[in-house]
Amino acid sequence: MLSVSIHNKEFELYISKSELEKIIDEIAQEMDFLKNSNPIFVIVLNGSFLFAADLLKKLSFDPQVDFIKVKSYVGMESSGEMTQSLDLSCNIENRTIVLIEDIVDTGNTLHFLINNLKKKNPEKIYISSLLCKPDSYKYPYKIDFLGKNIPNKFVVGYGLDYEELGRTLPEIYKLKDN
Ligand code: 5GP
Repeated sequence: MLSVSIHNKEFELYISKSELEKIIDEIAQEMDFLKNSNPIFVIVLNGSFLFAADLLKKLSFDPQVDFIKVKSYVGMESSGEMTQSLDLSCNIENRTIVLIEDIVDTGNTLHFLINNLKKKNPEKIYISSLLCKPDSYKYPYKIDFLGKNIPNKFVVGYGLDYEELGRTLPEIYKLKDN
């Protein structure tokens, strides 16, 4: 599909299925060096569920996986207020963590997550995000495994929603300019 309509907003195709596959293949290869560090992959729900599922299947090793659920976005804006509704179920003390995010915008979510994870004394936290909006990112954390930088446009699909719809689209769409 070249465009989709969600809650009466029009979105146009932005990142195709084949480009996503290529991005994920590259990230999986970059992660190869982690195979001997017994890492725990921490999947940040909801948005990163498809990215995480595809990435994990491409890894050359079989890591431990756990989930965390946070929300800051309301509609198309970051609310600035973070709510966490699911926490890790495993002990991460002295472990290598790979945080799997869908998209880094302001970085508030990442900052919140890193602060919380650090309290549990992991040995090292790596950050992976499928997308990043560098024009609004305001924190110094390095994104160790990044899929693609994008402009400050609202995107949906491949896990990312607009008011809870659009997550199951197999590619990524961006809001059409008026
Ligand atoms: P941040 O805290 O970095 O400002 O925002 C990160 C979170 O906001 C992401 O995990 C995602 O849930 C949501 N988000 C940020 N930008 C977008 C976007 O363009 N589209 C969608 N669907 N969600 C976004």
